Amino acid sequence: MNAPQRKPIAAAAHMGRLMGDYFLDLDEASRTGSRKVAWCTSVGPAELLRAMGYVVYFPENHGAVLGSSRCATDLIPVANALGYSPDICSYLTSDIGAYLKGTTPLSKAYPQIQRVPKPDVLVYNTNQCRDVQDWFGWYARELKVPCIGITSPRSVIDVEAGPVEDVARQIEALVPTLEQVAGTRLDIDRLRETVALSRQCSDLWGEVLATAAHRPAPLTFFDGTIHMGPAVCLRGTPQALAYYRELLVEMKQRIADGVAAVERERLRLYWEGMPVWGRLRQHSELFASQRTAVVASTYCSSWVFKAFDGTDPFRSMARAYLQLFIVRDEAYKERYLQEMLERFGVDGILYHDAKTCPNNSNNRYGLPQRLEARTGVPSLVISGDLNDMRCVSDEQTRINVEAFVEQLMERA
Ligand code: SF4
Repeated sequence: MNAPQRKPIAAAAHMGRLMGDYFLDLDEASRTGSRKVAWCTSVGPAELLRAMGYVVYFPENHGAVLGSSRCATDLIPVANALGYSPDICSYLTSDIGAYLKGTTPLSKAYPQIQRVPKPDVLVYNTNQCRDVQDWFGWYARELKVPCIGITSPRSVIDVEAGPVEDVARQIEALVPTLEQVAGTRLDIDRLRETVALSRQCSDLWGEVLATAAHRPAPLTFFDGTIHMGPAVCLRGTPQALAYYRELLVEMKQRIADGVAAVERERLRLYWEGMPVWGRLRQHSELFASQRTAVVASTYCSSWVFKAFDGTDPFRSMARAYLQLFIVRDEAYKERYLQEMLERFGVDGILYHDAKTCPNNSNNRYGLPQRLEARTGVPSLVISGDLNDMRCVSDEQTRINVEAFVEQLMERA
């Protein structure tokens, strides 16, 4: 087996500063009460919250930090003991477990931070799953803070005017409570500006991901899972734009210089499903050792929102939150994946069947077989989880990936 080659991305230092500033700012707001803190689901109405002056914290991002720092597996049983099943979202169970244990890996990275910021309001959107509502509901009872949100349609066939109006009205209905908690009125011009900034961030992030269509790819899915941090946590801010402009320049320079994320790339894969946060490095090295670049994913692309439009903020937010892959029906998902496989010149598709996230495990209802019949692109399913490493068999993953690569090489 070739020694794995990993190419550090220079912009990572900028991202480290940016994310550090973000977490320290949240901590300051929470400790001093200088600004109100809103917790938001990853595809909740962050633009509205930011425009109203809230500092916005994303518990799912904390879930990913718990996973990648490998704390999650030990914390999940704490939430299980409260009645939250080991089969439900392991972001939820590890995050609640961390709260009950009074711990956060953020303290290790930033010693000033002793705990995650206390929310003044919790705001969810069930477009991705019901787990987020249950998750925030637990904190609402525990911390006695208001919990409001959007109950989204799911399995959406076409994003038509009806569902868009429904969700837009639900977003508008959040405003009175948010105004009451913030003690300020919504400034519609500020909302327009924030939505426009989110759109620019989203476009830049999309451009960064699109560079991987080049052969050899200048970045992989594993790089993407790290560098999506600002697109998740800081969309709607000028700082996120500055960051993605820098990252995009670096990726374009890599293309110009013929720099590959994976040395002597010979195969290109698509990753469908959640990352295995506790195994990012191992998986990155496993694929690199096979000279296989994982060039695209549904997950990283989920923060590319094409609908945001500052001139029509509520409806465009609603449309963006409804256009997401996870909210859509199976026929849309098949078409989307087919288009991605073609655009990125993919040799094979890998489905991560995440034990605790059926919402992001698209291998369970025959989709891989239908897509393969349609495109001829072979697939592999690996069993695992986003945060519960008890569901992950490293040996099985390695054997399956190596056999899959061999199969693809025979076809090449
Ligand atoms: S989509 Fe999956 S990983 Fe994300 S919050 Fe819902 S259950 Fe958890």
